[in-house]
Amino acid sequence: MSYQAIVIGAGLSGAVMAERMASQLGWRVLVLEQRDHLAGNCFDEQDQAGVLIHRYGPHLFHTDKPEVAAYLSQFTAWHDYQHRVLSRIDGQLVPLPFNLTSIERCFLADKAQAMSTALVSRFGDGARVPILMLRQEADPLLGELAEFIYQKAFVNYTSKQWGMAPEAISQEVTARVPVVVSRDDRYFTDPFQAVPQAGYSAMVAAMLAQPGIELHLSTPMDARVVLDWAQGRVLLDGELFSGPLIYTGMLDELCPDGDALPYRSLRFEHRHLAQPQFQPVTTVNYPNEEAYTRITEFKHLTGQVHEGTSIVYEYPCGYVPEQGLEPYYPLFTETAQARYAACRAQLARFTQLLPLGRLAEYRYFDMDDAVDNALQHFQRLAQPCREG
Ligand code: UDP
Repeated sequence: MSYQAIVIGAGLSGAVMAERMASQLGWRVLVLEQRDHLAGNCFDEQDQAGVLIHRYGPHLFHTDKPEVAAYLSQFTAWHDYQHRVLSRIDGQLVPLPFNLTSIERCFLADKAQAMSTALVSRFGDGARVPILMLRQEADPLLGELAEFIYQKAFVNYTSKQWGMAPEAISQEVTARVPVVVSRDDRYFTDPFQAVPQAGYSAMVAAMLAQPGIELHLSTPMDARVVLDWAQGRVLLDGELFSGPLIYTGMLDELCPDGDALPYRSLRFEHRHLAQPQFQPVTTVNYPNEEAYTRITEFKHLTGQVHEGTSIVYEYPCGYVPEQGLEPYYPLFTETAQARYAACRAQLARFTQLLPLGRLAEYRYFDMDDAVDNALQHFQRLAQPCREG
């Protein structure tokens, strides 16, 4: 069997690329996945009690890109779901992103009212203000509010999650969870928010069921594909391969020279409980004392009816491959970014190689970004094929 393209990794990015190459270009595509399942980190499955859970932590699909929603809708029906998060601050659960309701819960009525008025007049009704920006405010009342939110909701959570203070990582990271000048208590504001009705694994399986795709699970890249560094060539099963090699794994794994890239990891502790409900919303964040950052209860997001319930605790940690951990988050320090750039530069000699997705591009993609990015890479790759 000869193939026109190879895709390493059957996660979301790899699946989009494989599906497009097979359906739009009529190519035969070999997909190699080292895990024993497809769908990457959005993999979901029924646990022993029959509750649909996300093995690698909660995945909430949301997008402001209609073309991404339309693309994925070819492979799944959707269950409407708007994500809501509460944060446990001083023993009570308050809406997160921190909003006007959260302020009322945390301050006495007069002060809360004054803070809300100050926020609205400074930023406007409905504004979404990054915490690090709010901390720059000169108004003492806004300063007090910013300090409270920073200390109670961000600083310890961020140091658990990243092992660093909020200022030490890219400002974009904490800006993902702004302070909201309204009573909107949704975690995301995108117009399209839903989860695949039969789950992410079923959606990705439908993508990879495209004729022309050959998927091999439990198959690490080096079982079939070798990079010939001397000549800048790619070998498949020992023979020269001249088509695109789409690689969605950790880029440093391909580089013989240079330091390993740093990642943050998570330890997930899944539990099934013999009670119908554990907490009032899908996710409760624990920004302070606990070693975990959040607990997610899956039934809230899938809408599944079951007499028991399944939850997952997330414990952030450094990435240590020997401990069976997974590399979930790239880091945004200058050293990490410089190492990544060096690795890309080394690999530039392989002109067929396309690093794709959150790991290989070392970027903090949400799922919709990953799909959008893969669709755009596909367009670039397909252009010469279509013209030729
Ligand atoms: N964050 C925080 N406190 C919270 C929630 C988030 O400090 O209660 C910060 C933290 O640095 C986190 C970032 O905001 O890494 C982005 O949060 P998000 O929920 O988007 O992270 P993800 O779901 O991707 O892990």
